[in-house]
Amino acid sequence: MQVSRRATSLAQSATTATMARARQLAAAGVDIVNFGIGEPDMEVPDAVKRKTIEAVKKNITKYPPTQGRQDLREAISRKLKRDNSLGYSPDQIVVSSGAKQSLYSAMLATLNPLDEVIIIKPYWVSYPEQVKLCGAVPVIVDSGPGFIPSADAVWKRITKRTRMIILNSPNNPTGAVYGRKALYEIARLAVENDIMVLSDEIYEHLIYEGRHVSIASLNSRIRDLTVTINGLSKSHAMTGYRIGYAAAAPEIVQAMVRIQSHTSGPSSISQYAALAALDGGYASIRSERETFRRRRKLVMDELAKVPGLSVAKPAGTFYVFPDISAACKSIHIAALEKRGGKSASRAFSEGLLDREGVVTVPGSAFGDDRCIRISYTIPEERIIEGIDRIRRFVS
Ligand code: PMP
Ligand code: GLU
Repeated sequence: MQVSRRATSLAQSATTATMARARQLAAAGVDIVNFGIGEPDMEVPDAVKRKTIEAVKKNITKYPPTQGRQDLREAISRKLKRDNSLGYSPDQIVVSSGAKQSLYSAMLATLNPLDEVIIIKPYWVSYPEQVKLCGAVPVIVDSGPGFIPSADAVWKRITKRTRMIILNSPNNPTGAVYGRKALYEIARLAVENDIMVLSDEIYEHLIYEGRHVSIASLNSRIRDLTVTINGLSKSHAMTGYRIGYAAAAPEIVQAMVRIQSHTSGPSSISQYAALAALDGGYASIRSERETFRRRRKLVMDELAKVPGLSVAKPAGTFYVFPDISAACKSIHIAALEKRGGKSASRAFSEGLLDREGVVTVPGSAFGDDRCIRISYTIPEERIIEGIDRIRRFVS
């Protein structure tokens, strides 16, 4: 059977591939330490569990509206006002199957073939592939110090084909949180050049230093050019519920809804349960954040004991992105690299998995081969065990 050129040109998501590999190994009885999965290990809040059961009991099991339940979009509208100082009416919101679908529908709704999309490196794995699926062209721009985007670097890559800039703060994989000044400079550039901004804010509640700023809240001109993306996967540990959403100008939302009328959004049960998360207060989010704050400290303390790894303390998310270049200079890792003809971070990640049973994601998946991504979504004793195994691997 013939596979399309579009599918052939696509790399498989390294994050989902890593998840699949970790599941396989665990099922085979291997004692793995899984730093690969970017998903909170907490349970969903009790109120969400109750609402999920209620949905089934009340037979809320028929097709939901294409755009998402009206009461859910009203709850999202309240949330955006409350948390982000963003005034979007329920009509300007579309609920999708995870932020992943929101991102893709937003791109399908706005990009034409050969449009250029600026993506800041390191980037989340799916952005370039989603851009390519739209027939558009990813333009990868290096971030500046601290993995913060530099308006100057972005400016140099703007052409008459540039249509969109993708921003992700707090950032996967680096954990960087973009401050108001950096965002303001990018916003100014976007407004001056009439470029859209796709702002993925899915980690907004996982910030340990500084504050989250929604770029669309800076002024009305950037607001009109921005599609704000968010969801409940990280804030409420609801990854399996597949609830994401986008807020944007009416014509963009209407185009996204037309697209979604042919692809469908999340299940009626998930949408009903999501109501309990959005209006359920901040206690579970606070508790999740404190757990990750403690783990972040532990990860930093433990990584400091590993020779050849250097990492700056990330201000947000549940990822760290250590630089492994010095460790790779050690003889046996260099040999691994040579043997497989693989990139350094892939050789490192695969070697670490084979020898020590530790799952990480190679930085090459995020466009930065000097690093690996560690996701601290596992209990503290496993974090200690995992980093101890990394120390053994590089020693
Ligand atoms: N954006 C980023 C930066 C992510 O890390 C993820 C992780 N899954 C997503 C979007 C998609 O989230 P979901 O589809 O689960 O809402
Ligand atoms: N976003 C998570 C990660 O980066 C989950 C996997 C995915 O959807 O790609 O690991």
